[in-house]
Amino acid sequence: MTQVTEHGGGVWSLRVPIPDNPLGHTLVHVLDTDRGPVLVDTGWDDPDSWTELNDGLGALGIGIGDVHGVVITHHHPDHHGLSGRVREASGAWIAMHAADTAVVRRTRESDPGTWLDYLARKLAAAGAPEDHLAPLRAARSGGRMRTLPGLGAALPDREIVPGELLGLAGRRLRAVWTPGHTPGHVCLHLEEEHPAGLAGHGRLFSGDHLLPGISPHIGLYEDPDDATVTDPLGDYLDSLERIGRLGVAEVLPAHQHAFADAAGRVRELLDHHEERLAGLLALLTTPLTPWQLAERMEWNRPWDRIPYGSRNIAVSEAEAHIRRLVKLGRAEALTGTEPVAYVAV
Ligand SMILES: [Zn+2]
Ligand SMILES: [Zn+2]
Repeated sequence: MTQVTEHGGGVWSLRVPIPDNPLGHTLVHVLDTDRGPVLVDTGWDDPDSWTELNDGLGALGIGIGDVHGVVITHHHPDHHGLSGRVREASGAWIAMHAADTAVVRRTRESDPGTWLDYLARKLAAAGAPEDHLAPLRAARSGGRMRTLPGLGAALPDREIVPGELLGLAGRRLRAVWTPGHTPGHVCLHLEEEHPAGLAGHGRLFSGDHLLPGISPHIGLYEDPDDATVTDPLGDYLDSLERIGRLGVAEVLPAHQHAFADAAGRVRELLDHHEERLAGLLALLTTPLTPWQLAERMEWNRPWDRIPYGSRNIAVSEAEAHIRRLVKLGRAEALTGTEPVAYVAV
């Protein structure tokens, strides 16, 4: 059954399920404008999710064809997955930050073989053992994995420009660029008085950037064509502080539930990362490759029970933390190691 929550002031959220995923659902927000309803995110591209989205809108008296526009917080499939179907059914525009649109374009154009090579190369450089690399090589030579997730994702036709209003008739919705979880993640600040009179400066659609009970995944920005040494964790921590300073009355995240104390939650997440970096520095008194570090880091289950794909994500997260420590001058690459090992300084 579709669950619709009214947040007041012409804002609702719909729970759109994510199949086979512990997150459970995406909260798709509906924002009433003078030109028609606008969605913030759309949900996973799956027949059941599509039905739920339609039913949820229907409960509000909205047909999918009435949707005027779609604002996407970031390119992940639980947010952007159904955008193409919404556009097909309604002619709605789709807006996204340029950095995430670039990821969508690259994924659509990329050849799975090139991606597998890139992944195998990267994992080998991070110190992944041969038994972890073998399945990638087998998939490559066997010509399996002909499709990549996100291959059919809709190409956005509008750009979300940081700091600017989105130009929604009768509403004040401002884009706040919050890179970290993805390079082009945005939060959307609804600069209007809180409908129930909660103290603070408006409301924030926070996507995956600020969630009440989950610390979002921060890995490397994967781009086979870009050798720039980015610092996603540094970007994330900066973005968090920026969001904390907005002083919003309420946060409307894309998972879990709405909550009020944005600044308190920002503080918790900053402390969490501070502690995690300190813990990793303690591990790096012995030189470790990113893979070895990932094996020793604390996850939600023991390393030997983490599934294959999640290990790749975990290594990417370990690397993002190493990048941060190197940038802070608290760790360095050990010269002459292959794969490269890092050590605390
Ligand atoms: Zn995400
Ligand atoms: Zn998400």
